[in-house]
Amino acid sequence: MKPLSNLIVFFVVSSFLFVHCKQKMESKTETPERPVMVKVDTTNMEYSSMYICPMHCKGSGSDKPGVCPVCGMDYELNESYQHPTPDSTRN
Ligand SMILES: [Zn+2]
Repeated sequence: MKPLSNLIVFFVVSSFLFVHCKQKMESKTETPERPVMVKVDTTNMEYSSMYICPMHCKGSGSDKPGVCPVCGMDYELNESYQHPTPDSTRN
């Protein structure tokens, strides 16, 4: 085998490995397993209640207007409140 062909084979193999590896990494970053979400647990009642504290204090949240027992702020109507009906398709 000539040195030149050795070089070509080395180049082809290494470039293939590089591209293959790059594609793998890119596809991994472009398609995350789940959509980007807030890290907080939004299933807690301070987030999922109909009326929530603007500060999302722990233990706050109610199904009717009121005042947060933790910070004393008025509850806000939760715009992302999900009614327990299957027709709420928007996020
Ligand atoms: Zn609060």
